[in-house]
Amino acid sequence: MFDVIPDMAAKRAELTPSNLAFHDTTSRRDWTFSEINDAANAVAAGFTSSGLADGDRVAILCHNCAEFFVALFACQKTGVILCPLNWRQPAAELIETVKQVGVSLLLTDAAHQETAKAVAEAIRSPLVSLAEDFASWIETGGPSLNEAIPAERPWYLLFTSGTTGLPKSVIQTARMAWANLVNIGQAIEITSKDQSVCFLPLFHTAGINLYTMPLFLTGGSSTIIPNFDAETMVALLSSGKISQFFAVPAVYQALSLWPDIEAIDWTNIRCGCGGAPLPEPLILQFSGMGAKVLNGMGMTETGPTVFLMDPENATKKIGSIGKPRSLVEVRLDGVRDGQEGAGEVQLRGPGITPGYFGNPEATAKTFTDDGWLATGDVARRDGDGYYFVVDRIKDMFISGGENVYPAEVERVLNVHPAILETAVIGVPDAKWGETGAAYLMLRPGETVDLETLRPWCRERLAAYKVPAHLRIVDDFPRTAAGKVCKPDLREAFSND
Ligand code: ATP
Ligand code: MG
Repeated sequence: MFDVIPDMAAKRAELTPSNLAFHDTTSRRDWTFSEINDAANAVAAGFTSSGLADGDRVAILCHNCAEFFVALFACQKTGVILCPLNWRQPAAELIETVKQVGVSLLLTDAAHQETAKAVAEAIRSPLVSLAEDFASWIETGGPSLNEAIPAERPWYLLFTSGTTGLPKSVIQTARMAWANLVNIGQAIEITSKDQSVCFLPLFHTAGINLYTMPLFLTGGSSTIIPNFDAETMVALLSSGKISQFFAVPAVYQALSLWPDIEAIDWTNIRCGCGGAPLPEPLILQFSGMGAKVLNGMGMTETGPTVFLMDPENATKKIGSIGKPRSLVEVRLDGVRDGQEGAGEVQLRGPGITPGYFGNPEATAKTFTDDGWLATGDVARRDGDGYYFVVDRIKDMFISGGENVYPAEVERVLNVHPAILETAVIGVPDAKWGETGAAYLMLRPGETVDLETLRPWCRERLAAYKVPAHLRIVDDFPRTAAGKVCKPDLREAFSND
């Protein structure tokens, strides 16, 4: 797109200095754009005085807070690369991660002080607190930095969700952030009047990039809560001030069960959803309350927005992820262009990562020889140009010679009135090679007779797709993004 891009915090401080950038519910503090820029300049000076230089890595272990963004923009100003850590991981795992990335400094909040201390000691890194140390740096201040940023320079690293294996560290750049804004902003019309909630964890792409970063780049504001909780979220949405938010299906699930959910005026809130398939009953429940839940699809590797439904068609094409947005090209590998059918989604455009940090082998495996990102996801396009996710290639299994996409079986099971959520995996079978095992989470207070469920499935699915094994569970093993961890389910099945 562009080779260099203006310093983002300095630009906002120039355009909308006194607009509210963030309200942080933990510190109960409001931050204007010029306060964020001043603080980022001060922290940049702090980084430099700590000996950090362009290309060095700083890790951050914290709940969502405004200081996270101060650190992020200080990194952009200095070329230091921010590496947000997953606070759900124990110290031993975090130590492995920071060793892999090669971290020179660790930032932490009060809630993670103990774990951070153990990590910092293990890698002999200084530990800087986002409260006291940042406050003292901010009081000292620093020179106003406002140099153009190389668009392709690594700015921060985000781990993939780890749904199919070990999380991979994806390079994020300033160019990706702008491409993401164009891809989302044109579809849902983000303006400087918009307000959102930042509640998904900031160590994943959705936490930073949906919609906090696009709103920052536009001059809108975000209320930051430390982590998702349904009660706080419902209270914020009931205030009438929130014009848009993005959530993953697990969050919609939790909100759908909350008692006051119908009291919210959903008609003025633009709701985004993605990360995993959104069950149809949820789409119908929210659209019944007047909400337009826009399904979209993206990846950590793609900044993330690639596909997004347009508001006019939100309820006309249920289950679709919409069309590829303005700055992305799509091809379905395995089908000829313009032909209906399914194929692997391959992508190209300015929102796509230059690669995995320090892992050229994984980067080479993920990009085709002609430079397209091979997503590992299968999708199909309908006659109107709308796309539907079929499933991940890795989750497909073959039963009696027929391909089974677990997502199709899950979609069917999810509409059963007693079922809240399902996860289907392929497991070894002596007769068919592989067969399906369905794990079922029931709606509160519901029961289901598994003997009646099999014929119910047979009425709706070809026999080879009907799961041979049905198990009721209280919950699934999940990633921090709330996605079902199918490798863990497969392991649990084999240990049963
Ligand atoms: P890992 O790459 O570590 O296995 P992950 O792929 O889940 O984990 P993310 O980058 O967070 O990590 O997620 C991107 C993936 O999520 C996509 O490749 C796709 O499989 C899935 N996904 C995203 N949005 C949707 C959606 N709307 N419907 C179905 N699947 C989706
Ligand atoms: Mg992935």
